[in-house]
Amino acid sequence: MGFTPITIDKYVKKHLKSNPSTNEKELRKGLKSALNAYKNGVKCACGNDIWVIASASVGNKCFTCITGEAYPTDDYEIKGATEKAHNLRGRHISEIPPTKIAGFFDDDGYEINTDLIKKPSLCLTCLKNDDPHEEFLCNMTRYDQQNSDEFRCGAYQKIDDNSLPF
Ligand SMILES: [Zn+2]
Repeated sequence: MGFTPITIDKYVKKHLKSNPSTNEKELRKGLKSALNAYKNGVKCACGNDIWVIASASVGNKCFTCITGEAYPTDDYEIKGATEKAHNLRGRHISEIPPTKIAGFFDDDGYEINTDLIKKPSLCLTCLKNDDPHEEFLCNMTRYDQQNSDEFRCGAYQKIDDNSLPF
């Protein structure tokens, strides 16, 4: 049970074989943007992870909402969207030479790819946005709230209106 992982290239080939009228460029574009959405934590309206392969053409929805079936059986999913818990994760701390350990790690000891952490819109009006000294703490706060609807931050400091360039 579950998805069979497949690379974008392989999937595109398969898809074109059975649907020769498909525009390859559009298909690739759709797959890439759906995969990005998945990696950024975009969910189906029902709260499930999106099914990247089908979301590329029907919009970001999960397997169940698209097919009406509870679980995938021998359906494909793009590699990178099949390992749920590892979305933002990099190497495990035990795989890294002790002298090279930097950045931060989740509770299970996996390196967190801070580039993939979503920046809430609140941060854009905060004095600390883009301050390299605050970045670590800001990322921790953002990471902790990845899956909550509303972002709250105890360290938020509104930019003084007078200092805004517009
Ligand atoms: Zn759904």
